[in-house]
Amino acid sequence: MHHKLSKEKHIYKFTADAEPALEISSGDTVAVETKDCFADQIQGPDDRLENISFDHVNPATGPIYVAGAEKGDVLKVTIREIKIGSQAVMLTGEGLGVLGHKLEGMHFKVLPVEDGEVVFDNQTRITVNPMVGVIGVAPEGEAINCGTPDTHGGNMDTTLIRENAEIYLPVWVEGGLLALGDLHAAMGDGEVCVSGAEVPGEVTIEVTLIKDLNLPTPVVISEGVMAVICSRETLDDAVVGAVEIMDEIIRRRTDLPQEEVIMLLSIAGQMRISQVVDPLKTARCEIPLKLLENYGFTLF
Ligand code: CA
Ligand code: ZN
Repeated sequence: MHHKLSKEKHIYKFTADAEPALEISSGDTVAVETKDCFADQIQGPDDRLENISFDHVNPATGPIYVAGAEKGDVLKVTIREIKIGSQAVMLTGEGLGVLGHKLEGMHFKVLPVEDGEVVFDNQTRITVNPMVGVIGVAPEGEAINCGTPDTHGGNMDTTLIRENAEIYLPVWVEGGLLALGDLHAAMGDGEVCVSGAEVPGEVTIEVTLIKDLNLPTPVVISEGVMAVICSRETLDDAVVGAVEIMDEIIRRRTDLPQEEVIMLLSIAGQMRISQVVDPLKTARCEIPLKLLENYGFTLF
């Protein structure tokens, strides 16, 4: 069955208490309309930042209740299509991002998106790489605001989360309570200024429930690689976490001895930075799926 979900149905925190905006069954598709990460509050270069509520950022459209989903299951979310708006906004400023200490006040920039390019200025156009910044489910226990990534997904700001990607989100509460938003027309790994080219849009997803897969953190299959995504207080910890979980995932599904898995990850795995600007930092460990298939690997 196909559904449509309006961006007016959105949340600012992932929580088990949230009222579902939509209930679906495994195998359904949903066209999810999304606001930009500033909740569409900045529309033109003359807008005044004083008028913007920073309590209302990173809205995620949803939550979507998936019938039958329970703790220990996984939601496989396949991104069929990402449509992005014709105008993007970037923002940075004092205290924000990696170099916020070099700035005074807040700065934003409105960037047209035309002919598949983000127009940065008269000199520079950047080819779009549309992606989903925030995608997640409700965590167990305390609510997590939509600006923070963790084992429930959330603000992972991972460029691999794009068209044709499969995102495997561990379910923590009944129904999963999936929500997504924060589309970027373009973003570089790291997202150093604290924002990408932030756009509203519409994401068409297909959601499949996989019972008892028991993943500890989100996994993405995209562009021929499998990536384990890990968010921790520091990038160092996130790197260690991503490799540890990748190792466990491979070891459980192949006969490869421990030292062989570690060596394989060292010669063919790639450690990449997703983002370094959210409350937790996100790293990922990627390995070509084809290579694991040599050992009979399948994720489920
Ligand atoms: Ca983000
Ligand atoms: Zn964003």
